[in-house]
Amino acid sequence: MKPAKNSHIIIDGSAGEGGGQVLRSSLTLSMLTGKPFTVQNIRGQRKKPGLLRQHLTCVHAAQRIAAAQVTGDEMGSSELSFEPAIVSGGHYEFSVGTAGSTMLILQTILLPLCNAKQASEVVLNGGTHNPFAPTYDFIQHAFLPLLNRMGAKVSAKLEKPGFFPAGGGRVRISIEPTKKLKPIELDERGALKSERAVAMINNLPSDIGDRELKVARDRLNLRRDQLIKLDDLQADGPGNVFQLFEVYEHISEAFVGFGEVGKPAEHIARRTCDQAERYRSSDAPVGDYLADQLLIPFALAGGGSFRCTALTQHFLTNVETVERFLPIRINTEREARLAWRVNFYQ
Ligand code: AMP
Repeated sequence: MKPAKNSHIIIDGSAGEGGGQVLRSSLTLSMLTGKPFTVQNIRGQRKKPGLLRQHLTCVHAAQRIAAAQVTGDEMGSSELSFEPAIVSGGHYEFSVGTAGSTMLILQTILLPLCNAKQASEVVLNGGTHNPFAPTYDFIQHAFLPLLNRMGAKVSAKLEKPGFFPAGGGRVRISIEPTKKLKPIELDERGALKSERAVAMINNLPSDIGDRELKVARDRLNLRRDQLIKLDDLQADGPGNVFQLFEVYEHISEAFVGFGEVGKPAEHIARRTCDQAERYRSSDAPVGDYLADQLLIPFALAGGGSFRCTALTQHFLTNVETVERFLPIRINTEREARLAWRVNFYQ
């Protein structure tokens, strides 16, 4: 897309969900459209407002791939302006100094790099399995297959997991250029083809994983070969992540629980099974998190539709941000308690 001049967009970072996603989505959309923007009241709804290190990493990653002019990119800053030049593919490496999420950096730069003329190889260092962010496995299992179905050519490899607070994980992403994403209709799940529970444990007693898998076996009637314990991960610090994966004909979904000091393993696994059971009690293919993450790809494709289980605050805020940058209308219609239809029109 050609940069449109004189279209400086002002975003209120405290509107709606008011978190880091408004900033990340604005960076992505700005790079894709060439439109500069200023975001004010950054993370205005949060207890500790302003830019945190992990947001700055996203800003600087975007600045680098798009040769952008940036002001206000300091820790704690409440206003940031971003004016992209052209996005160039190539070899990039970005590190989140703390155990911040590498997947949120990927969320920011992936689509602009897909749209670049050159191929890219991106290495991301930091957290790979963080609370309040998609895990590496969520991206690999749920998000990328859909993006690739829309015509993108992206593959990802987990070279080393990174858990909060030690971090130290590493992910490698390969991206081939895509001219334009194509619209898809994602209305049905189709038949359930496979499901599995995976417990990841690092530098913690291995029985944590056994106890989580036992909960999944009993609650979801899983067989022994559907229970997988990964306890030799070679990660830097302690970590426990419990994930459920479901593969349907037309969609794959993932549900995630994070081990925490003071929370029994059984509790983590039960909460994760609750998420899977809630998803099963609907027939909509797209789960709560995937729904907000699919908005920008569908908007870029310029059409298509999906059915999802809920419209979260993240989703609604992202709709507003997308409509500020792209000539797209996004209509939502409730069909059942846990089923919404989302249509994209130009
Ligand atoms: P924010 O809270 O604004 O930094 O945005 C968080 C992003 O992470 C959103 O795109 C969410 O969909 C995504 N996210 C948060 N938790 C999960 C989860 N458990 N599984 C998948 N994605 C998640």
